[in-house]
Amino acid sequence: MSGSATTPGSVTTLTSRPPDSTSDAGGGLRLSFSRVETYRQCPLRFRFAYVDRLPGEPSPQLSWGASIHAALEAWWDQKLPQPPPVETLLSALYDHWEDSGFAGMDRDEKVRWYRHAQDVLCRHHARHAADYVPAVATEQWFSLDLGDDVEVVGSIDHVARTPGGGIGIVDWKTNRRAKTREQVAGSLQLAIYALAAEQLWGHRPEWVALDFVVPGVRVSVPRERIDTRAATRAIRDVAARIREEAFEPAPSKLCGWCDFRAQCPAFSGDGPDIPGLAVVELRRLQRRRERDDARIAHLQALVRERLGRDVTVEG
Ligand code: SF4
Repeated sequence: MSGSATTPGSVTTLTSRPPDSTSDAGGGLRLSFSRVETYRQCPLRFRFAYVDRLPGEPSPQLSWGASIHAALEAWWDQKLPQPPPVETLLSALYDHWEDSGFAGMDRDEKVRWYRHAQDVLCRHHARHAADYVPAVATEQWFSLDLGDDVEVVGSIDHVARTPGGGIGIVDWKTNRRAKTREQVAGSLQLAIYALAAEQLWGHRPEWVALDFVVPGVRVSVPRERIDTRAATRAIRDVAARIREEAFEPAPSKLCGWCDFRAQCPAFSGDGPDIPGLAVVELRRLQRRRERDDARIAHLQALVRERLGRDVTVEG
């Protein structure tokens, strides 16, 4: 495992982004919310992105979201008793504008994206300036040891100070639509953050929230409504499937946003490709048979070594 986390449930703060690989030098499995979510949406997409490590395509949405996050982080992290002016947000947007996803886009369209970001940030300022309290932390990286050589890494966007001196956990979302309170309460991501925060700061957050910055809605739920045990089980299940190399494609409407359609046998441009799916399943079964054959040979050798070479071992 990476970092100094050695006991299940222990957590390590990281000063920089952890490595992108899903496995560490000791053979442990390193996951994150987005990796688990990718696996649950499509195991083959997970394999392309995190096992084969095929490069993804930059997109305007990703670059725009990264720019908004960088500006919000700069604003909330000012450590000033007074709310920093809106100009702080706007100049942080300018300084941290991530341009790669806009390559090839005409100038007017790019300007529209930029103006939209300015508008969203001005509204965020209007929503939060009156009750501004400097963040306890922003972009707080952590590494959480779940046991069984499974590590979860991530970063918490905004750790807020509550009026009672406790903490609240906020994740900024740049989706156009907000989620319901029920959906937020069931968020795997917030459950992971709640678990990490409890161990980083020694006490439970009072609440966790998704802040949908585009519609300008923050949906909070009390910590009691977050089921961290179910989240831990869900991550362990995914880890077990990854270790079994279960990487079947799961075609869905999300294929339209997948960077790996050209490599995917289940996607022929118009939708699922049945022979392609069969090829993937066949390869998986062949890999499993090879593993089983190797294990059978090993056990046969073990039995002969202990009981004598002339013993007959069926297999
Ligand atoms: S195209 Fe669809 S089925 Fe294929 S890897 Fe991507 S998400 Fe999965």
